[in-house]
Amino acid sequence: MEKILVIGAAGQLGSELTKSLSDLYGGEQVIATDLNESARSKFDYCKFEVLDIMDKEAARKLVKSENVKQIYHLAAVLSATGEKNPLFAWDLNMDSLLFVLEIAKEFKLDKVYWPSSIAVFGPNTPKVNTPQYCVKEPNTVYGISKQAGERWCEYYFQKFNVDVRSLRYPGLIGYKSLPGGGTTDYAVDIYHKALAGEKFNCFLREDSYLPMMYMPDAIKATLDLMHAPTDTVKIRSSYNLSSMSFAPKEIYQSILKHIPDFQIEYKPDFRQAIADSWPDSIDDSHATKDWGWQPEYDLDKMTEDILKNLPNYKF
Ligand code: NAD
Repeated sequence: MEKILVIGAAGQLGSELTKSLSDLYGGEQVIATDLNESARSKFDYCKFEVLDIMDKEAARKLVKSENVKQIYHLAAVLSATGEKNPLFAWDLNMDSLLFVLEIAKEFKLDKVYWPSSIAVFGPNTPKVNTPQYCVKEPNTVYGISKQAGERWCEYYFQKFNVDVRSLRYPGLIGYKSLPGGGTTDYAVDIYHKALAGEKFNCFLREDSYLPMMYMPDAIKATLDLMHAPTDTVKIRSSYNLSSMSFAPKEIYQSILKHIPDFQIEYKPDFRQAIADSWPDSIDDSHATKDWGWQPEYDLDKMTEDILKNLPNYKF
């Protein structure tokens, strides 16, 4: 049976994407992999293997023995964590992507998915309605690795016909797992604090606008792109993707409608500089035109859904 391999499956995105893939294709067709044995308990609906993607021999063996035909490569060091150890972030983010692209070429895989990020943009990028094609001078190691990764994806598509597809996700907000060290993590943490009846210390300024997306929309976009006919996928670096854009003061107001005594204090830290270098909002018209992208959630609809579901969620 042909299999789908998810690398970095236990993270914020992988936890939800792996479940959707299993629901769609059947758990027996999906192999979730991550660094630690402790992640196994999350994956009672599909196969789980411990895999460090830097262990190339083990990864190659798994791809061969399981007849893997698609890879979703999600393992990465994220923006805020990357700044604490830039060379490690570069090594993991770049080396693992190049290895996955090589594997795709060698084993003639059907498709590869690799996420990019709005971190590819930088301080000289137009901030409002940021176009698909524009100046990109990222100033975080994470952004530099995503930008280089996009070029490698296009290169492997052009030179070796590797069917690799990618989205520049905005900040992803989900309630089913905790975020992994990004600059937009505040927009996940704020719901946990609001529901715990605690005051929230926000590490960004109240007026710091960033593009964001609720996880169900991110999963939908990913699967829509992966299911799109090959010739409709015109962009092989990475697609701009957007659904909403808000500042901390607006997500706070959205939560106040449900929890009127919730309190917030703004204490910007080193992540403010990263946020300041990123766009306020994104033009994703290529995704709409090429494969019909349409988001479903705005800020208030997302808040309602999270506050309804989070209290009952078991991590
Ligand atoms: P995360 O940090 O929550 O999860 C990453 C997972 O990769 C973790 O479970 C980690 O254990 C695993 N991992 C780390 N090193 C590994 C290795 N060597 N081998 C195997 N697994 C390893 O990250 P996420 O938020 O789920 O992000 C997934 C992808 O989406 C990343 O490529 C990230 O850059 C991209 N992305 C995320 C966001 C966001 O807001 N979360 C935004 C834009 C892009």
